[in-house]
Amino acid sequence: MRQKIVVGNWKMNKTYKEAVSFMQDFKLFVRDINNVEMVIAPPYTLLNYLKNEVNGTNIKVAAQDVFYEEKGAFTGEISPKMVKDFAEYVIIGHSERKKYFGETNQIINKKIKAALQTGLKVIFCLGESFEERNQGNTKTVVETQLREGLANITIVEMGSVVIAYEPVWAIGTGNTATPEQAEEIHIFLRQLVKDLYNEETSLNIRIIYGGSVNPNNATNILKMPNIDGCLPGGSSLDPGSLTHIIKSFS
Ligand code: PEP
Repeated sequence: MRQKIVVGNWKMNKTYKEAVSFMQDFKLFVRDINNVEMVIAPPYTLLNYLKNEVNGTNIKVAAQDVFYEEKGAFTGEISPKMVKDFAEYVIIGHSERKKYFGETNQIINKKIKAALQTGLKVIFCLGESFEERNQGNTKTVVETQLREGLANITIVEMGSVVIAYEPVWAIGTGNTATPEQAEEIHIFLRQLVKDLYNEETSLNIRIIYGGSVNPNNATNILKMPNIDGCLPGGSSLDPGSLTHIIKSFS
């Protein structure tokens, strides 16, 4: 039985003061929820605050990215070891990292490897663009992303990986995939994990959906059997909306 997981990605949002206000409400709203894994991914500047703030709650913390080197002359970067002081999870391969920072599948693979070797759990994002879907290439594209992103990742390490299917055309656009569209790709990805690893790994791995999830569409998306959770961005900025999405599961 795969435990459901909801990961709120704050992206480049919230000052310290705004985070304090969010957490005051959110902690209260979700204090009785213990059957869904709840994760918040704040900017790096708030990791320390969040880590202390979630102490004694069921809420977990994720970083939004990480670099693959352990330390050294990499101005502006943060290593897995540094993140590990504050977070249990890290998001890797988000489409905004690809779009604005030129991340390739090879870079993503190095980041995933480094994060897992440091003991972080990884939320590995992948998904096709609008053009790729229109040209009928969705499955080819996500297959390449999955194979290249997970190159040299072992079966044991796969126990610490969550896959996030995030069609690029659905992120921040209000155009969410239909539950059926998402489920089709989730089934495809699960089969690929089976081919690359084994049946047990494919049955255990959580595959979550991201792309304009909100309190109104969450229930329909989340009732699909191969959708094990979601990764809301915009909707995770409001404690009431995020709680509503989490409650769609619990
Ligand atoms: C995301 O940040 O990965 C995301 C899916 O954003 P949104 O929910 O705003 O589309």
